[in-house]
Amino acid sequence: MSSSSVTASAVPPRGRFAPSPTGPLHFGSLVAAVGSYLDAKSRGGEWLLRMEDLDQPRTVPGAADSILRALEALGMAWDGPVLYQSGRDQAYRAALEKLKARGLVYPCACSRREIADSAVSGIDGPVYPGTCRKGLLPGRSARAERVLTSSEPIIFEDAVQGRIVHTIERQIGDFVLKRADGFHAYQLAVVVDDAEQGISDVVRGADLLDSTPRQIYLQRLLGYPTPRYAHLPVAVNVVGEKLSKQTLAPPVTTDEPVITLDAALRFLGQAPVTDCAPGDVRTFWAQALAGWRIDRVPRQRTQPAQSA
Ligand code: GLU
Repeated sequence: MSSSSVTASAVPPRGRFAPSPTGPLHFGSLVAAVGSYLDAKSRGGEWLLRMEDLDQPRTVPGAADSILRALEALGMAWDGPVLYQSGRDQAYRAALEKLKARGLVYPCACSRREIADSAVSGIDGPVYPGTCRKGLLPGRSARAERVLTSSEPIIFEDAVQGRIVHTIERQIGDFVLKRADGFHAYQLAVVVDDAEQGISDVVRGADLLDSTPRQIYLQRLLGYPTPRYAHLPVAVNVVGEKLSKQTLAPPVTTDEPVITLDAALRFLGQAPVTDCAPGDVRTFWAQALAGWRIDRVPRQRTQPAQSA
């Protein structure tokens, strides 16, 4: 499959929800789940699930199962088996080898501290200044592995946020594909897995908007198709912090699933459901799917959860 010649309308879309199991499902990740589900299912597509448990130090035992149980209780059935990133090391290694064989990857000895001290700040932390591009300095040993980036801009049309133009070399720098702790980086894993799962439509939080150009860049290098992207506003608390485990976002409650789902639906700018009992997920989804309009999703990167 080539990226540009395939028309998305020819085959049913395939979306996905890819939570990191660092805790139970909270409102912020529920929004991504509901948005990706509605986007795929309203067009007769499939909705796949992937557990991003690659970052084992951050993975909390039991969290993956608790997320799956919450989705079930909310009436959100996924298609096919759940893909666990923790079992995918071989595939990530193969992709990395492919890039290495083409001379696109180099070892890097720099510590975070050294980079922070010598770099200008970019859109996602310090821009890597390219210190190890031409080889390791004598006496230094490799910690991470980075991909060579380019000054050619990456341009894409986000279905919610509009046109994005981004020059990776200048705004991010050569980025890490294999981390100093030995784990493959999120950017590599997500690209390999979206291709493996045949994802045509990525709908997720806008906190990942700045990662998308890196992912498109890797897709091009690896010869994978580029999905359509839609980045939803990220739910923030009253002080503007993303709802997450770190900001102590409470788990969503599933005893009255329609109340929980309706809050996510309204957060996404959709018409609320009417005449639906709090436990009647079937009626909720029938109405929500019929009414889904991606052009009603607020074109914002963040939105207070309370405004829902
Ligand atoms: N695992 C990421 C998260 O929970 C999402 C990754 C993605 O959707 O690409 O924030």
